[in-house]
Amino acid sequence: MTALSLAAAAFLSTLIGGALALRFSRAFHLILGLTAGVLLGVVAFDVLPELFELARAHGIDPMGPMVALVTGFLLFHASEKLLLIHHAQEGSYVNHRHPTVGVLSAAALAGHSFMDGVGIGLGFQISTHVGAMVALAVIAHDFADGLNTVTLMLSHGNPRGRALAALALDGAAPVAGAASTLLFHLPPFALALYLGFFAGFLLYIGASDILPEAHSERSSALTILLTCLGVGFVYVVSRIAG
Ligand SMILES: [Zn+2]
Repeated sequence: MTALSLAAAAFLSTLIGGALALRFSRAFHLILGLTAGVLLGVVAFDVLPELFELARAHGIDPMGPMVALVTGFLLFHASEKLLLIHHAQEGSYVNHRHPTVGVLSAAALAGHSFMDGVGIGLGFQISTHVGAMVALAVIAHDFADGLNTVTLMLSHGNPRGRALAALALDGAAPVAGAASTLLFHLPPFALALYLGFFAGFLLYIGASDILPEAHSERSSALTILLTCLGVGFVYVVSRIAG
């Protein structure tokens, strides 16, 4: 149930991001800098230590989860580049104003948000601590998912109503993902693989999606400082909660 209410918070975060689309862009880019730090911190101080702990406790070779990490990273890299998900890349695709591209990209983002929800739910299958930390990483970046959904739909020539429908779908996706994990229970080996996969996914969106977007309008020392603060914040929170 905690997983579901935290996924509902991810839903709100997505909607707020969508509503803020194109407004308050300076503050938005600073928040993205902070978010990138939170994602890096959750991977380094929570997901990976938990993975190695799980591997040690159950005699699992860590190489398997590490292959899953690389797979998660490359899978999201490939799907994103192939489907032109990125708002940040819009400039290079100025001649491609096909509404279908916007719809496909928004669908891919909704798939990503579904994974966010599955991440929260499976995190709670490991422990409340892991679930809460994964939820932190998801809620912290989901407003960016919401904003990307709206900008993608609008920039590819979709009407406002359809953009809002896509936003609602993207917002509901984490809740559906978290709910789906109530239907099954993974054994330790599969959980370790999932943690590796999810770490690769979080590293990819942090480094290749959120950070470039945070610096897309103008880079500043403040943005970098906020990224460092984001990492530090997660370190402190994971020590206190651990
Ligand atoms: Zn997300």
